[in-house]
Amino acid sequence: MSEQMQADVVVIGGGAAGLAAAIALARSRRSVIVVDAAHPRNERAAGAHNVLGQEGVAPAELLARGRAEATAYGARMLPGVATGASGAIDDFVIEVDDGRVHIAARRVVIATGLVDDLPDIPGVEAAWGRSVLHCPFCHGWEVREKRIAVIGRNENTLHQVILFRQLSDDVTLFLHEAPEPTDEQWEQLAALGVPVVTPPVKRLVVDGTAVRAVEIEGGRSFPVDAVVVAPVFTARSELFAALGGQPAATPFGLRIEADPRGQTSVPGVWAAGNAADLTAMVVASSAAGVVAGAAVHGDLAARDLARAVERRRAG
Ligand SMILES: Cc1cc2nc3c(=O)[nH]c(=O)nc-3n(C[C@H](O)[C@H](O)[C@H](O)COP(=O)(O)OP(=O)(O)OC[C@H]3O[C@@H](n4cnc5c(N)ncnc54)[C@H](O)[C@@H]3O)c2cc1C
Repeated sequence: MSEQMQADVVVIGGGAAGLAAAIALARSRRSVIVVDAAHPRNERAAGAHNVLGQEGVAPAELLARGRAEATAYGARMLPGVATGASGAIDDFVIEVDDGRVHIAARRVVIATGLVDDLPDIPGVEAAWGRSVLHCPFCHGWEVREKRIAVIGRNENTLHQVILFRQLSDDVTLFLHEAPEPTDEQWEQLAALGVPVVTPPVKRLVVDGTAVRAVEIEGGRSFPVDAVVVAPVFTARSELFAALGGQPAATPFGLRIEADPRGQTSVPGVWAAGNAADLTAMVVASSAAGVVAGAAVHGDLAARDLARAVERRRAG
């Protein structure tokens, strides 16, 4: 037997974006259900940085606080995976855990985050988020003045080299799958004092989550303290597609297109956080959630007002 639930708004995903949307909605006395599989993107990281007022907070702790804040205003948390979505504006149905629960809702906020597709190099997955990194703003300070290897994947590689070179004098570029640098880029790498290793990387030597060395084809090994990779980002957009939307390709990966207030091309469906903005960090994701939550509330308020006027006119 499926449990039936009802809310003004279903928020799918209880990370920084989804919880911020839920708080904005619940504070406006909208009924909200947050469905959350509870695997935020940064769950491997020890701390979240560039989070104003909560610098270095553990990701799980930040979200636990967010859930408590949302719940205090009446939002309901539903642990589980949203597995299906159907219907249209004013009349959506979200299926949870393959039918364990069905939620009827007037509006949907998709805050499902993204999937980091990591390079297929042994050792990368084990040390991801600890000593295998991608974002200089998230954990660059923590590896300042350390031996950093940047493993190339695509044309964004040189950009990563430049940003990490600001943090350490000891940065080595392993070209791996990145395109051959242009003459201008070779000159830039030389000017930055960044050595370039051309044979493909075979594996990372890791000790638990600590990377110790990069081993290239042929067996040569380079001792390092941190490795930088370039994930391909893919917004979780299956439910958006189920509701009639089409994810859009960007140079970084697939995302759900939304206007600055989070409204998508599908009436009644909003998107916030990494699902809509692949490069948004924690604070930017929660800001997008607040904005989307406020916009959804405004949309519902306009609809409720129109209905009230209709009822009044009908006597
Ligand atoms: C290793 C690493 C370290 C990072 N460090 C930092 C940092 O220090 N500072 C910083 O600002 N940013 C950091 N980031 C970026 C940060 O993780 C993102 O900005 C942030 O997580 C985006 O929030 P979000 O709510 O959009 O998505 P998420 O945090 O990924 O939350 C999405 C939630 O939705 C859930 N979900 C997904 N699909 C479903 C579904 N179908 N049904 C139900 N629930 C679902 C997920 O399980 C998850 O709980 C880091 C990223 C990585 C990969």
